Amino acid sequence: MDSQDTSQYEARQTICELGRSLLDDDLTTGTGGNLSVRLDDDHIAISPSGVPYGEIEPSDVPVVRTDGTVVAGDGDPSTELPMHRAVYDRRPDVGGVVHTHSPYATTFASLGEPIPASHYLLAFAGTEVPVTEYETHATEELGEEAVEALGDSANATLLRNHGVLTTESSLADAYSVAQMVEYCARIHYQASVIGDPEILPDEELHRIQGKLDSYGT
Ligand SMILES: [Zn+2]
Repeated sequence: MDSQDTSQYEARQTICELGRSLLDDDLTTGTGGNLSVRLDDDHIAISPSGVPYGEIEPSDVPVVRTDGTVVAGDGDPSTELPMHRAVYDRRPDVGGVVHTHSPYATTFASLGEPIPASHYLLAFAGTEVPVTEYETHATEELGEEAVEALGDSANATLLRNHGVLTTESSLADAYSVAQMVEYCARIHYQASVIGDPEILPDEELHRIQGKLDSYGT
């Protein structure tokens, strides 16, 4: 294998491994949720549609050109491919995308309420996690709503009455954002049950984001 093949194989293997983690970490159930990696300017790898995560092998993971043509992989691409493509098209900084139906965050999605920063780890996502307008799953329209909600810099949005979409420079980091969003949603839910959680100001979240960025350099 040349180096391009090796990196493509590793990306498809990461999709298999993190797909299994989605179930282990209670971020989704059954075959729900999906993950993708930007391979180069013109290709992404995305989890296959309808295959249980425990059974996905790297050779099953479809490689798709940005025009939507499947160029490799035994499986059909996730039905949410249009949403993933829309994110890579609009956000050149994004290298990985994760979509989950994680229960606490999706609770807020069903209420149509953003998740505010009542815990500092929300800084991984932005200053709050916004909510899109409702669109039917697996449509181009849902992708358009998602990229609009993400804007130029947010790493997470709720998809109204549906779930969560997270992004980062790599798939592993987008997966971490998905975990942080679910954790922050749970804490905010629990704190709201007992009392009135304090929300951190945007300036503090920006300060934390500066510190988080410097860890990665
Ligand atoms: Zn979904």
